[in-house]
Amino acid sequence: MALLVSETPWEQGGDERRAIARRLKIGVDGVSDYVLVRKSLDARHRKQRWLAVYRVEVRDEAGLLARNLHGVRPWTERDAARYTFDVDEPVRRGPPALPPIVVGMGPAGMFAALWLAESGAEPIVLERGGPVDERVTAVNAWWRRQVDLDPEHNLVFGEGGAGTFSDGKIYTRRRDGELGYVFRKLVQFGADESVLKEAWAHLGTDRIRQILPPLRERLAQLGAQVRFRARVTGLLVEDGRCLGVRLEDGEEIRGSSVIIATGHSARDAVQMLVDAGASAEPRGIAIGARVEHPQTLIDQATYGGERGPLPAASYRLAHNPSEGLAARSFCMCPGGVVVPANNHPERVVVNGMSFAARRAFWANSAIIVEVPASMYGADDPMAGFRWQDAIERRAFELGDRDYRAPAQRVVDLIDGRAGGELPRSSYPLGLTSTDLREVLPEAVIAGMLGALAAFDRKMSGFAGPDALLIAPETRTTSPVRFHRDEMGQSTSLRGLYPVGEGAGYAGGIVSSALDGLRTARALTH
Ligand SMILES: Cc1cc2nc3c(=O)[nH]c(=O)nc-3n(C[C@H](O)[C@H](O)[C@H](O)COP(=O)(O)OP(=O)(O)OC[C@H]3O[C@@H](n4cnc5c(N)ncnc54)[C@H](O)[C@@H]3O)c2cc1C
Repeated sequence: MALLVSETPWEQGGDERRAIARRLKIGVDGVSDYVLVRKSLDARHRKQRWLAVYRVEVRDEAGLLARNLHGVRPWTERDAARYTFDVDEPVRRGPPALPPIVVGMGPAGMFAALWLAESGAEPIVLERGGPVDERVTAVNAWWRRQVDLDPEHNLVFGEGGAGTFSDGKIYTRRRDGELGYVFRKLVQFGADESVLKEAWAHLGTDRIRQILPPLRERLAQLGAQVRFRARVTGLLVEDGRCLGVRLEDGEEIRGSSVIIATGHSARDAVQMLVDAGASAEPRGIAIGARVEHPQTLIDQATYGGERGPLPAASYRLAHNPSEGLAARSFCMCPGGVVVPANNHPERVVVNGMSFAARRAFWANSAIIVEVPASMYGADDPMAGFRWQDAIERRAFELGDRDYRAPAQRVVDLIDGRAGGELPRSSYPLGLTSTDLREVLPEAVIAGMLGALAAFDRKMSGFAGPDALLIAPETRTTSPVRFHRDEMGQSTSLRGLYPVGEGAGYAGGIVSSALDGLRTARALTH
């Protein structure tokens, strides 16, 4: 038997057994064994401290439980699933007569492919972009303006998908066997074991780039064929069934099933599914702009002073007004940079990225407003994409047609002042001082203004003179959702399995990975 002991103060290099004994108000000898299962920074008070959750064995468990200490209770099977990431490994079988096809090597496609490969299914994995090392070179060269944007191989397309150049936040509220598979695999391919214990785990773009090549090697070892620069442009459909795919050069590949994990930036892939008869509906999205502050401002507002050894401070804020659209901060990147995240030429769209150490001078997050599908006149599944695209195109025009991003200081947006001077920013392609009312719809601006004022009341300086808005952030969620059955199969096109963010069932690295994994598991049962 064991106990779950939460809210135990934790210190780097501290005597954990003594801390647990103090927490349980027993002698150190009374603690027979313990395992740290989760730790998080307690940001509820001005004086920050780490709090840990332990699985603890004590000599006198019955006596201890009889004292009814707050946050101390018997360890359950649910806790084991929630905290120790028990892994459900696939059963290995012989390869099927025809291999499954996985299109896209973002988190959804990679985890679907990994499960299939580990089950012995020898999938064919098709990715329109290139391997990660070539991608890093291409993206850096574009940011230095040495080459043009490559629409097939960029910040969102290529090995690792949109998650490669990200902050790599990998936390989620879910804790179950499937999540265990994702986390254990991340660790197997090079993530630090601490991600299993951190409540707010993140990898950073540098770590993600290191994890991808061993994952790809593992796929190859298991008999999967990984093909880069292989853009799928058509589906082979007969009698309402998807039998395979057609590549850009006309090559046709037949498979036992086709998993489409092409993300929400591949609008051509979404159109391809719709044209082939995959049933889908438009859905609401959230759009806005990135707000950038000096990280010291966020540290000061959170810690009440310099952060010292504490991590770069983070925030999660929401504003739900009684009238108007709700808004929230999204994808906060402490010690990170704002990046151009467009794959389409002549479009501007921004996002945030950071390295594992999170040591950049700036902090950024998206301030996004929830927009119902009715706002963009949702009459067909592509309506939301057209609406996003018009905003991104306008931003390109306003950004001098050379990929500068439109930007405005928060105080200038509040005061309705256009053309003001801009502070220094992390954005690599430069900014153009612009009235953001020209970029974003008025209802979105109104939602952002309400949220900025509310956030400023919670964090002093949030809407102050050092706060800069860089626009537009249009790709936080997919504006379409494909209809699927309980296996993840399209309800109108048998043999087709749309998964991940582009299918409208995920909104981040881990949720996309889980969605791809679930479909792969359904296919191997
Ligand atoms: C800059 C940035 C930062 C982010 N930060 C975070 C974060 O910190 N935490 C988090 O949880 N999420 C973050 N996200 C979101 C996260 O990256 C996505 O939710 C996730 O990557 C979606 O996974 P996916 O596999 O569904 O699609 P994607 O990652 O978009 O992958 C789709 C893949 O399919 C390929 N593809 C597309 N069309 C075709 C085709 N026709 N043929 C062949 N291949 C094709 C693409 O090249 C791509 O590699 C961030 C996103 C960006 C852009």
